[in-house]
Amino acid sequence: MTALAALDLAALEALFTEWGEPRYRAAQVFDAVQAKGVLDPAAMTTLPAALRERLARETTIATRVVEAQASEDGTTKYLFELEDGKRVEAVLIPEGSRKTLCVSTQVGCPIRCVFCASGIAGLIRNLTVAEIHEQVLHVRHLLGERPSNIVVMGMGEPLLNLPNLVEAIKLWTHENGLHFSPRRITVSTAGTPSKVDRLAKLDLGVHLAISLHAADDEVRGKLVPGSPAGRTQDLIDAGARFARKTGRDVTVEYVLIAGENDTPDQAEKLGALVAGRHIHVNLIPLNPVTHRPDLHAPSGIAAKAFAQRLRDQGTSVTLRTQRGDDIAAACGQLALERSLAE
Ligand code: SF4
Repeated sequence: MTALAALDLAALEALFTEWGEPRYRAAQVFDAVQAKGVLDPAAMTTLPAALRERLARETTIATRVVEAQASEDGTTKYLFELEDGKRVEAVLIPEGSRKTLCVSTQVGCPIRCVFCASGIAGLIRNLTVAEIHEQVLHVRHLLGERPSNIVVMGMGEPLLNLPNLVEAIKLWTHENGLHFSPRRITVSTAGTPSKVDRLAKLDLGVHLAISLHAADDEVRGKLVPGSPAGRTQDLIDAGARFARKTGRDVTVEYVLIAGENDTPDQAEKLGALVAGRHIHVNLIPLNPVTHRPDLHAPSGIAAKAFAQRLRDQGTSVTLRTQRGDDIAAACGQLALERSLAE
């Protein structure tokens, strides 16, 4: 059955013509779903009861929120159940006037970063367009306002589900829907240089984040084992091409893990990799993860020293604070904890 949230205005108009409904009903439903995040036809009270019932019978809602956990720092983690019982999550991170929502694109993940619960079982399946898009719609509805930014950095490797992600981005940016500027959307990848080139060619206007986490192939092979081997330099080169072609920001995300990738040698190599590339580096001290109690964030002093080494090489750097420690905010952790508890 078709998910209502995946229907754009033209598809809704076609459906309603087939059903013998007036054309303006399509715009009404599109506004309720896409602008206000109302997914349940029963709640679309401007529609006649018979149409609400038919929509409920003949279309589906692809996801439902089964849990929302708020952290003391305002970070909120949403756990979604899909129609086949699989679970994914999205995290809302408030920061000043921004409310950034981090969304998932796959169930599980083939990249298997050592610090990430999403990768433990590898890839299970791609999310559909509706399953990606509805994460944002549910949160829009629950918040009563639109999140200000979207980062596609939750469970999964987004560029391995690019066709569905592109359709979701089209819905997020639709002028009669949530109307996100593409500048407020960042797509993250840990992966393949050719897919980064493909994203650049699509020219969607979105920003790119490269989840690097190590500055050479040897350390990266250990920490990000599912990423294509021996491609650290190629990935950065592809990021630089993306920045040149699209004029959009490229950031490198680098989770700092004590004794693994926080050494002076890695800082020197990272600085050399991004030198002259207009690539900003985000350093994120590791959030504690239950499945790898042996991994730790470096001390504050060590993290600052790593950042300073990069700055000394002329690199633009932000050292982030840990967020949502008390709610299992590390990627995939909530979904994993819930599945272990069942
Ligand atoms: S951090 Fe991202 S890329 Fe790495 S395993 Fe987790 S979901 Fe996949």
